[in-house]
Amino acid sequence: MPVGTQGTIKGVLPDHVAATGSQIILANTYHLMLRPGDKVVAELGDLHRFMAWPGPILTDSGGFQVFSLSDINRITDEGVTFKSHVDGSMVDLTPRRSVEVQNDLGADIIMCFDECPRADAPIEYHREAVQRTLRWAGECQQAHRRPNDQSLFGIVQGGTDPALREACARALVEMNFPGYAIGGLAVGEGFEAMCWTLDRVAPMLPEDRPRYLMGVGFPRDIVAAVAAGVDMFDCVMPTRNGRNAYAFTASGPLRLRNSALIRDSGPIEAGCDCYACRSFTRGAVRHFFFAGEMLGPILVSLHNIRFYQRLMADIRRAIGEGRFEQFRQTDPRCLLGPAGESD
Ligand SMILES: [Zn+2]
Repeated sequence: MPVGTQGTIKGVLPDHVAATGSQIILANTYHLMLRPGDKVVAELGDLHRFMAWPGPILTDSGGFQVFSLSDINRITDEGVTFKSHVDGSMVDLTPRRSVEVQNDLGADIIMCFDECPRADAPIEYHREAVQRTLRWAGECQQAHRRPNDQSLFGIVQGGTDPALREACARALVEMNFPGYAIGGLAVGEGFEAMCWTLDRVAPMLPEDRPRYLMGVGFPRDIVAAVAAGVDMFDCVMPTRNGRNAYAFTASGPLRLRNSALIRDSGPIEAGCDCYACRSFTRGAVRHFFFAGEMLGPILVSLHNIRFYQRLMADIRRAIGEGRFEQFRQTDPRCLLGPAGESD
């Protein structure tokens, strides 16, 4: 899922997002609740109309942003009080309010309000966060006004502790959600710890429901999670890196500001069928970045989304043809991770 934080995939027209093969997009409850407000979006005809995206949309619960971005005033068993980054006002976010906002926004998949501690938080804090996450999951189910047209997913927390993860997963499965997310990974625990945790958590979730790993990641992370049994992903990286002139390619990152590309007549990535690669040379894209033209960030965002969607389509094909393990061991994209580790 490409990420449309403020109700837009930054810089990319919805038609172009659809042309990358994206089937579903994500929008952030936290940002839309603070501005323009969920009631405003509802009055304008719901989030599909607002984003001009008739296909499926998923909204997160706002929890992750509250815990990672905001100036938190107070966390209790009832919810969180924080300071709005838009106008400085104090805002209460509770499980009930998170679901109310998501009911107003009208996405197809909505998420339970959860508590996501930092990876290095003490185990006692992780234990408390799991207790709250479970309590809040029940309150979200109770508050959900549109269960027939919006699927509410539960979120497994518990850091990298297998017993906590198992307790959280079991309790959520008891509550019978139509889908399950794995939260609290890719928050600083490292690649090995993430894989180790995923290999244990994913199999605890029902095979006949979607499993969604939130906020991940590099191609290597996604491939490892698919191997563990995960189905769905969202990440800002294709668009955020694209805006910074960082293009994903099978042979590693290409930095479009590089002076070696000034006269390069090739596409961003040879063999890519995206609009940017079909239409523009590397030399032109490089020029757009140096001239401060909007088209530079737009074209590289578009290419990166298509890069991820081609990877996902190739993974699906490999699984369908029973050769995912071979794909994983031979396709160079499966090794792409953060700078310094694999590129
Ligand atoms: Zn391309």
